[in-house]
Amino acid sequence: MTTSTKTRTRFAPSPTGFIHLGNIRSALYPWAFARSTGGDFILRIEDTDVERSTQAAVDVILESMAWLGLDHDEGPFYQMQRMDRYKEVLAQMQQQDLAYPCYMSVEALDALREKQMAAKQKPRYDGTWRPEPGKALPPVPEGVKPVLRFRNPQTGVVAWDDKVKGRVEVSNEELDDLVIARPDGTPTYNFCVVVDDIDMSITHVIRGDDHVNNTPRQINIFRALDKEPPVYAHLPTVLNEQGEKMSKRNGAKPVTQFREEGFLPDAMVNYLARLGWSHGDDEIFSRAQFLEWFNLDHLGRSAAQFDEAKLRWVNAQHLKAMGDDALAPLVAEQLAKRGIVADERLVAICGLFKDRCDTTVALANWAAAFYADITPSEADRAQHISDAVRPAIVSLAAKLASVAWDKTSIASAIKEVLAEHGLKMPALAMPVRVLVMGTPQTPSLDAVLATFSREKVIERLKTA
Ligand code: GLU
Repeated sequence: MTTSTKTRTRFAPSPTGFIHLGNIRSALYPWAFARSTGGDFILRIEDTDVERSTQAAVDVILESMAWLGLDHDEGPFYQMQRMDRYKEVLAQMQQQDLAYPCYMSVEALDALREKQMAAKQKPRYDGTWRPEPGKALPPVPEGVKPVLRFRNPQTGVVAWDDKVKGRVEVSNEELDDLVIARPDGTPTYNFCVVVDDIDMSITHVIRGDDHVNNTPRQINIFRALDKEPPVYAHLPTVLNEQGEKMSKRNGAKPVTQFREEGFLPDAMVNYLARLGWSHGDDEIFSRAQFLEWFNLDHLGRSAAQFDEAKLRWVNAQHLKAMGDDALAPLVAEQLAKRGIVADERLVAICGLFKDRCDTTVALANWAAAFYADITPSEADRAQHISDAVRPAIVSLAAKLASVAWDKTSIASAIKEVLAEHGLKMPALAMPVRVLVMGTPQTPSLDAVLATFSREKVIERLKTA
């Protein structure tokens, strides 16, 4: 591959709020496209909204991407650090007559807008200051700093083949001359995006469809600068569970919150991948499979809706499939937050309990019984620990004091006690589970007991 055909994608978040799942999906797809085509993925922080951008939001972006394994090859580039470059291009455009100063005051613009609205027209700049051969411009007012406007073509259409929306055509008559620099000389948003996409040699822009109205304007600037625009894919919105556009205002959680809640990065990638893209009916897949399958031809056209129950189910599938060795450190992290230091038994504990868990937090809840005190509920005690079964529990404690401490020997001890006391398995197993694990529902009792120390089991059986 030559450098000119190498795929280059980017994620260009504005750090104005904590990044949520709807936002990070706009990172996942360009990342996956770059990875699956052997290209580069660039991270660009669009921080020109100085009032609303925060370092904390940048940190959450970086942390979320690192957690999900969405690694970038270049950047992060910060737009605020590229001001000189934008100003250089602005000067060049003015020199080449691609942009012109406009001295129309805010009041005059407002008046124009009102007049157009009253006449049921779309409000747009009327080209007063646009120089044309033979046209006399108004006298430059004194002491007024102009904005710089892009000389948008006045005829023809701007068209592109969107990878999601198909062919989109916008008539240039619909577009007025965009302000590309403010009176203080600072560049505006759409202009910076184009300069960046050019300088960063972006080949594919994959972003939310809230930007689709910017695209014709951006394409015109590309063309004015004699550059070929990239391929565009505008992703449909992600809705929250209530069917509203996912946003922080409507209670969307920051991506990092899902890590706290015990979700696995690969499960998140799997779930997010399906939120707007499909590979047949495949629901559960690994990161490697996803990268093998991903392309821009199977992006969904309609809004996708977040469904936490589905995410939990996907997470549970990944949890089950994951090796206990790999799972243990993640559960150890959850335990550490509770002040519990785990040990090597955690690997076996993960193996025993992962099938009944949907998050590492749920797994940590089970594991905690091995490392911290438990308090069976009064209801469970009342239901399962009767006077009739107490003698059998005492016998079991006595037998367990001397058997070899492994699953098979523990199983034989339990069977002997059942025979001696004429009991069926559940009659003894339920109370023992309540006493040792704090709940009557656990995996196979011999395996559970073998994972505790002998002392701990006997100590807990004595609380019957
Ligand atoms: N900064 C924009 C946003 O966060 C993305 C712009 C783009 O991808 O072109 O919505």
